[in-house]
Amino acid sequence: MPVQFLKGVGPARAETFAQWSVETVGDLLEYFPRDWNFVPEPTKIGYVKPNQTVSLIGLVESIDYQGYRRRPLLEAFVSDDTGMCRIVWFHGGYLRNQLEPGRVIVASGKATLYKHQLQLTNPKFFVLDEEHPESVEYFSGGIYPASNRLSSRQIKRIITSVLDSVTDLIPEFYDKDFLKKAELISRKDAFAWIHNPPDEEKLAQAKRRLKYDELFLMQLGLALRRYKVQHFSEAPPCVCTDEIDSRIRKRFPFLLTEDQDASISEIVADMEKSEPMNRLLQGDVGSGKTVVALYAALLAVANKMQVAIMAPTEILAGQHFLSIERYLKNSHVKRLLITGGLTGTKRSETLKAIRSGEIDIVVGTVALLQADIEFQQLGLVIIDEQHKFGVEQRAQLRKQTTPHCLVMTATPIPRTLAMTAFGDLDVSIIKHSPPGRGAIVTRWVDRCNRKKAYEFIRERLRAKKQAYFVYPRITADEQTGEVKAATDEWQYLSTTVFPEFRVELLHGQMPSAKKQEIMSEFRKGKIDLLVSTVVVEVGVDVPNATIMVIEGADRFGLAQLHQLRGRIGRSEAKSYCFLFAETDNEIAKSRLEIMTRSNDGFELAEHDLRLRGPGEMFSTRQHGLPDLKIASIVDDFELLVMARRNAFEMVSSDPMLTKSERTTIRRALLAKFGDALGLADIA
Ligand code: ADP
Ligand code: MG
Repeated sequence: MPVQFLKGVGPARAETFAQWSVETVGDLLEYFPRDWNFVPEPTKIGYVKPNQTVSLIGLVESIDYQGYRRRPLLEAFVSDDTGMCRIVWFHGGYLRNQLEPGRVIVASGKATLYKHQLQLTNPKFFVLDEEHPESVEYFSGGIYPASNRLSSRQIKRIITSVLDSVTDLIPEFYDKDFLKKAELISRKDAFAWIHNPPDEEKLAQAKRRLKYDELFLMQLGLALRRYKVQHFSEAPPCVCTDEIDSRIRKRFPFLLTEDQDASISEIVADMEKSEPMNRLLQGDVGSGKTVVALYAALLAVANKMQVAIMAPTEILAGQHFLSIERYLKNSHVKRLLITGGLTGTKRSETLKAIRSGEIDIVVGTVALLQADIEFQQLGLVIIDEQHKFGVEQRAQLRKQTTPHCLVMTATPIPRTLAMTAFGDLDVSIIKHSPPGRGAIVTRWVDRCNRKKAYEFIRERLRAKKQAYFVYPRITADEQTGEVKAATDEWQYLSTTVFPEFRVELLHGQMPSAKKQEIMSEFRKGKIDLLVSTVVVEVGVDVPNATIMVIEGADRFGLAQLHQLRGRIGRSEAKSYCFLFAETDNEIAKSRLEIMTRSNDGFELAEHDLRLRGPGEMFSTRQHGLPDLKIASIVDDFELLVMARRNAFEMVSSDPMLTKSERTTIRRALLAKFGDALGLADIA
């Protein structure tokens, strides 16, 4: 039922509700209070004892604002037929016009005796509405997110007026045994109590139940999607014989690490099945993911399948291509790089070669997903650094093909995210990097030591090492000009600070050919110092570059700083990372401080989570998951784990949720996800 037809809601209020996405009575029930008041039953003033927490109903007799005091205060005297009470609000001047003499208020707080006079200090209070004397009960309980067009009290009145009549209609999702085992109250009680909690204990139970439901539905959606992918799409099984295995391993000029081997075993086990692999390969920068991915690619090729490798940018795609080339020298495997620069007949010939199956491995950006590229037999898709990809985009990818799919990410994913945004993937983790990596020393340099740092860098450059200088912006912000920007600094560094070295500029807005050229020169060691924006953030692999300067380091998040820093420390030589930042922001400071102490991506990711809270990184919407209204995947982690386990169990025992008792769950699921997860066909 639309809210507009409820008592107390007309077209105007319905419109306000609509702005908050509240259209139906069901939405209204899920419009949860943002906070709750617990107010004791009112006591007559004459019976109040000092040190009791009480609420009083009294007539405002007088009101006096003493703004001249060092701590200005608003003083009121209120009375009922048994006595008089003084109430003070420090800094309460702004309350003056709500508290005119003659009004009746409810005030709640701790009573004290002050100069033999009963007193409440800074109590919560509420002016009784003469037209609605019953409104005293609105003082207790939920406080709703409100606006000046619709107050919390009005919202509460509307919700209370429907609550009794609809709670009985709220369907239960689970059977009694489960509720008992999981220590969850009924859904009906949960809705009644979240809006109108009898006490704090019951409120806590209501919250727990509603959070659980929300997390459960999310996990159920993920579990179903995963089930569908596994059972309704077929991928070509890629068999790995000993011969194939040893042939692939011969390509690598080193022994694989234990973690690489473990990941490969998991991948092989997936790829040998006819269900599509759906796996996330997670490992810090430089941990050796590319090698693992290439193993998977060569396994597919050995099984006469084609492979698409996709990176977020052309630079990265080029980089991947180069490292693949390095390993595949003199190999029969046909591979090629597709760039935006490929046009005309050259392009159509290339596409034809892909279509005919002549090409084994195609490397490019996500533009490879575009419709005009057809494969003869695409067996494996590898996506690099797609942590920005969400559940929904992955679903998109699946629509076009059902190859095996391997997603690589260097961003350590906290457990919470692994269970939500990546909750439909299996995960392989490379924890330890290959041996022979020099240490990275990270310093946060203050202004007066800048010269010293430059001199130190000059020494290293003279010793034929290379350096990255990274800036948060391409050009200075004309308005503030406060942050150093790549373009200006490039001028300054190349002419004034390091005139004896070759200093070049690289940023995302340069033509792609130019970017490729600069990267290639840098790789060959012809450029000593590369000034850039965050385009070097991911994937660039130049072991001889052992110095990194990050300007405006406070502008970057921990994960990003760590990514950037991962560009150095790729050879046995010791590497140095210098962070420059002037900031008063405490969070930024602690980020920089942690950076100087830790080089462990997982540790940093956990810190980041604690520092920033579950902000944008966890935006569920962005990941194609429904918004969470009450649960938090960070604060309610234990519930999330339980919800995930139960959801996946439910799907494995009743994949289509066809059992009659699941009807309500199925409906709720569809209402939450819409068709985002392609669930319509099971409803
Ligand atoms: P990632 O893709 O995780 O950033 P890469 O696969 O690019 O890491 O590997 C980083 C560097 O480590 C590369 O230069 C690669 O040649 C080297 N490397 C990878 N695996 C090993 C190994 N098992 N032993 C020694 N060096 C390795
Ligand atoms: Mg890599």
